Amino acid sequence: MKILLIAGHGGKDPGAVANGYKEAELTREFVLSLEKLLSEFAEVSVQDIQKDTYTLLKNGGKVPFSDYEYVLEIHFNAGGGIGTEIYVHETEKKTEVEERIVENIAKEGFVKRGVKKRADLLVMNTCKKQYGVSCALLEVCFIDAVSDMTRYEKKKQMVIQGVADAIIDGFGLRTVQKPVLLKEADEITWELNNRYFKISGYEDFIAVLAEAKKANSPLYWGYYKLVNNIKD
Ligand SMILES: [Zn+2]
Repeated sequence: MKILLIAGHGGKDPGAVANGYKEAELTREFVLSLEKLLSEFAEVSVQDIQKDTYTLLKNGGKVPFSDYEYVLEIHFNAGGGIGTEIYVHETEKKTEVEERIVENIAKEGFVKRGVKKRADLLVMNTCKKQYGVSCALLEVCFIDAVSDMTRYEKKKQMVIQGVADAIIDGFGLRTVQKPVLLKEADEITWELNNRYFKISGYEDFIAVLAEAKKANSPLYWGYYKLVNNIKD
């Protein structure tokens, strides 16, 4: 799955400034950590932080939204509230991923303001309406609320991990662990003895099987297939 992350307020725009924080610095740090956590499970790109996406689009510039299946923009809220909220375009049908995102952030003690539908945000309007690509804008918490920022400083890693988990689980990206194949004579013998039949002369059995393995004999491959559940 291809995901684009946008750190809100690129270029020289600092965004909201309060409590000694600049929104633009917080969003960059957030996006870079999130990229690391997601990249094991998806193909993640980060929008050029030298450019402010909003200004770019406003001036007629283009972002190749159609290259992606999901776009997430990170912001920090301001204006006197507390808590976490996320915006999706009003035409968005499924908001399961976004519900998970605010749920996971709320688990760290933030007030859950929820998922809100908007139709007045330029980046979202372009991404969803023009390109049909699912997107969301997360307002992590309030930069001008001391309680939110104190909590955020303490729980930052958990919050970002929570957002990553919401995306990974919400889109079903967690890779199914491949079962480890039993190859060695002692592993196979242990499994046979445990699950199939009691082996008398356990050590001798291992020795014989090890020889059979070395000789690439059907005796070895027969047991190998049995314990690894391989049917030909
Ligand atoms: Zn912002």
